[in-house]
Amino acid sequence: MAELVPDYFTAGWRERDLTCPCDWHGNSRAMAMELHDAVTDYACPQCGNLLLIVSHPSLDQVRAAADAGNDEAAAQLAIIEEAQARFPRDAG
Ligand SMILES: [Zn+2]
Repeated sequence: MAELVPDYFTAGWRERDLTCPCDWHGNSRAMAMELHDAVTDYACPQCGNLLLIVSHPSLDQVRAAADAGNDEAAAQLAIIEEAQARFPRDAG
């Protein structure tokens, strides 16, 4: 059963060591990453079993985490706001 990380900015999920039923273990950096619209999956590199599902943050979550002093959130927020300034959403 894959573990769900509902908040992307939760500290420590990247480094957490998870064990697969096939006896492989390691953290998210060693897993096979697959990007989807709303989540990113991390699967066992040995057998392909899904180990971790991380929800992508909403803009509100990014803003809240940036306000709370999260450096990665602050960097993402800067990128988002720059993109929004450059491509205003007035075209519908
Ligand atoms: Zn496995």
